[in-house]
Amino acid sequence: MARSADGTSSGKARSRAASGRSEEGRPEPIEPSPGSKSADRTRPAEATALAPRLYIVATPIGNLADITLRALDVLRRADAIICEDTRVTATLAQRYGLASERIAYHDHNADWVRPKLIARLAAGAAMALVSDAGTPLISDPGFKLVREAVAAGIAVTAVPGASAALAALTVAGLPTDRFLFAGFLPAKSGARRRALRELATVQASLIFYETAPRLADALADMAAILSDRPAAVARELTKLYEEVRRDGLNALAEHYRSEGPPRGEIVVIVGPPVAGPAAREEDLDAQLLSALRSASLREASAAVAAATGLPRRQVYARALALQGKRASAEPE
Ligand code: SAM
Repeated sequence: MARSADGTSSGKARSRAASGRSEEGRPEPIEPSPGSKSADRTRPAEATALAPRLYIVATPIGNLADITLRALDVLRRADAIICEDTRVTATLAQRYGLASERIAYHDHNADWVRPKLIARLAAGAAMALVSDAGTPLISDPGFKLVREAVAAGIAVTAVPGASAALAALTVAGLPTDRFLFAGFLPAKSGARRRALRELATVQASLIFYETAPRLADALADMAAILSDRPAAVARELTKLYEEVRRDGLNALAEHYRSEGPPRGEIVVIVGPPVAGPAAREEDLDAQLLSALRSASLREASAAVAAATGLPRRQVYARALALQGKRASAEPE
């Protein structure tokens, strides 16, 4: 059922929302699964109406086949699809024959479109939120829409699927038991290093979204602040030129500095700080010397302390000693 974004909806949908019950008087279920009898598309449209609510629907991150049966079913039967970019969603719609109305919802129009969407949902519409790729809200628009829908008492349902962050984590070969999704780091080195400093002691794998032109600089800052941890650069996941490069942060930074920016979309995964036996004296010296190549004494000590689990004072004292040795070894 195609409708405008002005908040109007049919009386039928309105009464469904007002009662919170199906037309037969039973409590509203989450929509039937696509394989079930009630989802049979040969049945009349009214019998297959989606339960009124906001559906958060994941779409592919590259390979168009990476979409769930339930996502397709919801997108097909929704009163409208709320899109980050209607042109991008048009490709998916064409591929899968999705005819539902498409409404643009992005950073530039969100403030005035959101109240209209909430009004339509409150009046009983079933609407699906999608982003250009992957899971909405994950470094993509939608958080405020969900927050306001929840505040307005509108049901919100996840239709999960692809997300670049989790896809990258699963192929990185790094610990997955604890991870922190850090999204995009700031573009400028100073702010990026400050953000990385906040993450340096987190005992978990770190997940970053990154752009190709900034990759080498970002990896160099990661190596300076987080020290030379094991890491992975996952590029163009699920696409033709998918590639995962696994190495220490220093080697990865060096690789992309000498090769130039790669093409495509990128996730960087950094392993957790390596504590314990690795903190032998010679390892400590090696890590400090490596960090001191691109960071100040204070930054290098903090990074290595976080990486090794050794007390910061002890690492700082060792860094001072190493710097002193280096200075006295240099020719006058
Ligand atoms: N919401 C999306 C998700 O769930 O993955 C992410 C949206 S964010 C605006 C886009 C970023 O995700 C890209 O800049 C890149 O860092 C990452 N990304 C998306 N698709 C990717 C892919 N196929 N391979 C690697 N990274 C990808």
